[in-house]
Amino acid sequence: MTMTMEFERIRGVKAAPLPEMYTSGHRTCQGCDSALNCRYVAKAAGPRSIVLGATGCMYVANTSYYSTPWAIPWMHTQLGATGSATLGVSVSLKVLMRKGKIKNEPINVVGIGGDGAIADMGLAAVSATLTWPEYNSLIVMYDNESYANTGVQVSCQTPYGAHTTFSPVGTVKRIMHKRWKKNTAAMMAAGHPECRYVASACTAYPIDLMNKVRRALSIGGPTFVAILCPCPKGWDFDPRYSHEMGEMACKAGMWANWEMMDGKLTFQTPSSGIIKGMVERAPVTEYLQRQGRFDHLIKEDIDHIQKQLDKIWGEWGIPAILPFKVAEGELA
Ligand code: SF4
Ligand code: MG
Repeated sequence: MTMTMEFERIRGVKAAPLPEMYTSGHRTCQGCDSALNCRYVAKAAGPRSIVLGATGCMYVANTSYYSTPWAIPWMHTQLGATGSATLGVSVSLKVLMRKGKIKNEPINVVGIGGDGAIADMGLAAVSATLTWPEYNSLIVMYDNESYANTGVQVSCQTPYGAHTTFSPVGTVKRIMHKRWKKNTAAMMAAGHPECRYVASACTAYPIDLMNKVRRALSIGGPTFVAILCPCPKGWDFDPRYSHEMGEMACKAGMWANWEMMDGKLTFQTPSSGIIKGMVERAPVTEYLQRQGRFDHLIKEDIDHIQKQLDKIWGEWGIPAILPFKVAEGELA
């Protein structure tokens, strides 16, 4: 493995680094938390970093002609290629350093893609990247729960019942999208023994998010962080509520903040309080009712979602993470 950067833990907003590596010059929607996520990731990683960006909102809106918000090197990669592009850059840097063509120093390599790029189309390449312990490749998924860039189409991360342009509400079928969201971060943690660090964060908890990025980069090797990023356009809410929407998702248990380091799993706020039974999980109703994409749901649908959440938190082997339970009589 190539050398990694050492980072201090960020203890509070005032202790966050001041230099911005993702600044003005983008054209994302007002209140876009995916853009905020780029800012946090870049701020946490710092100036000695290279970012690979898959096709998606964070490519199209950030690469308008003659302007870019990136103050560090950024390269576009195809929708399905975040994993291979990140690994490729990491390998190249290592070779150049070994040959003495560039200074031997820690350089962070971060691949950033949306849910379509990482959990759908690029899943194979990301999974392959997570099997190479010799190279430092952090993959960050900004999960805005749809193919937002192309007009909000359903992805494997779109929540049950949500209206998208590919799952429109009709008179015959009230709900077109009936698949439960894929548990991508957990899948990465469970299936890649060479990957020492996998985490799940939300832009509403920026200190946690930035520390997770730093931890991933300092541990090195292949690492993965999934980040829930409220999207005012795709979720259909007033942009001023992006932060609140992220908080509500976590408090209602639609999203969990956790990290897995060397096989050890811990939860972070507010999920930690919920797991320990110190904080009650909020009912999901208000979270759903605040977003236009769920406008068509009736009580029966909301009850169904609540029931599924209760099952995930109450009955899964690891609450909110993995559904496995060993069948009775299988263990000695
Ligand atoms: Fe951001 Fe959503 Fe707008 Fe894309 S569609 S730029 S993710 S708010
Ligand atoms: Mg998306």
